[in-house]
Amino acid sequence: MPGKKIVVLGGGFGGVAAARTARSLLPAEHTVTIIDRNRVPRLCGMNPMLIVGERDVRKTGRSLGQLANRGIQFVESEIDSIDLPGRTVNTQSGVHEYDYLIVALGATYDWDAVPGSDLAYSFYSLETARRLRRRLSRFRRGRIVISVAAPPYKCPPAPFETAMMMNWYFRRQGIRRDSEIIVTIPEPAPIAVAGPDASAQLEQDLDRRGIELRTGVGVIAVAPSSMEAEYSDGSSIAADVIVTVPVHRVPKIVAESGLTDGKPWTPVNADTLETSTDNVFAVGDVNIVPFAEDRAVPKAGVFAAGQGENVAETIASRILDTAPPPAYDGSGECFLAYSSTQSALLGGEFLAQGGPQVALRAPTASGMRSKERFERDWRRFRI
Ligand SMILES: Cc1cc2nc3c(=O)[nH]c(=O)nc-3n(C[C@H](O)[C@H](O)[C@H](O)COP(=O)(O)OP(=O)(O)OC[C@H]3O[C@@H](n4cnc5c(N)ncnc54)[C@H](O)[C@@H]3O)c2cc1C
Repeated sequence: MPGKKIVVLGGGFGGVAAARTARSLLPAEHTVTIIDRNRVPRLCGMNPMLIVGERDVRKTGRSLGQLANRGIQFVESEIDSIDLPGRTVNTQSGVHEYDYLIVALGATYDWDAVPGSDLAYSFYSLETARRLRRRLSRFRRGRIVISVAAPPYKCPPAPFETAMMMNWYFRRQGIRRDSEIIVTIPEPAPIAVAGPDASAQLEQDLDRRGIELRTGVGVIAVAPSSMEAEYSDGSSIAADVIVTVPVHRVPKIVAESGLTDGKPWTPVNADTLETSTDNVFAVGDVNIVPFAEDRAVPKAGVFAAGQGENVAETIASRILDTAPPPAYDGSGECFLAYSSTQSALLGGEFLAQGGPQVALRAPTASGMRSKERFERDWRRFRI
């Protein structure tokens, strides 16, 4: 049997999990290649703790070059376009042919969608998180507002985890009484994707810690002074530090390839994560896997990784002519740290038969140990 070419676009959670799994299942005559512009991706999940000095910037990355030791080729290059009829990918370092394509290019941030947000603060990339960390280290009193623009956004618990970590940090600094923390979200409830029980529990936990929550309002602009945020309902909030969660979009080259069919995200078969083009799959933030009329599997690394593994199993079964894997089940858990030593867990099985089985588990020390293990495993390419 001639060797097949499996090409993975993007070396984030989904791409690495797909490549690792494909490599472990397939004989060496089949090649597995990851293409990414970035040799050292960062674990954004560390950012809510990093902004209060609880994570080391030097330990936030892993080098994709190390994948060569595992028989996976890594090409560091900008991907310019995907040619579906030609079964090729055009990059700045040349053209790559494929038999099976896994699109794991994540989501991009549209800062222009909220004018002024590029000059305000954020924590959605390492650069913005480092800048916020410097600001918080000087913060002594005043109001901080964390505002989400529009769903969907990566890791639905992240804005609340960030508020919880600020609360913990200001208490430790002895300045909590002089500080006010407000979170605003466009959705009617926090972590609505996990259902009403989880939302109610989180609302109570925020309230107990004196963190104000305003729902149903998306941030639409930040004043040039970066001291006032404007919202979709016509209201505004003056604050000393404005932190925004940017609008997320599908990468341009994915939209231009035709894979999105004009929709905001890449539609896929929910069981196999295959796109409308045979043997072309989309995993992670780049896709949409709905499980109810108004809800979809969250954009988070654990789900991207689970999807990558499932897709690699499907591809291996097609190449080796073996039974396909069970349908993708949408399972995974995200962390929501409440302090430096306690983390809650949010997750379950989103695509379970009979409806999602999802819960928010109370913060514990063992939750934090799991979070730390997750971070270590990620750095060692175990995830
Ligand atoms: C603050 C924050 C906290 C989070 N916390 C958690 C958490 O606790 N748990 C969790 O599971 N998830 C968390 N997430 C979400 C998680 O980081 C993402 O959901 C995950 O990274 C998505 O994986 P992916 O493989 O789909 O895409 P990504 O990891 O974004 O990877 C996409 C890759 O594609 C590459 N790429 C894109 N376009 C091109 C191009 N044209 N050419 C070349 N390369 C390209 C990029 O360089 C990137 O490496 C958090 C995110 C944030 C921002």
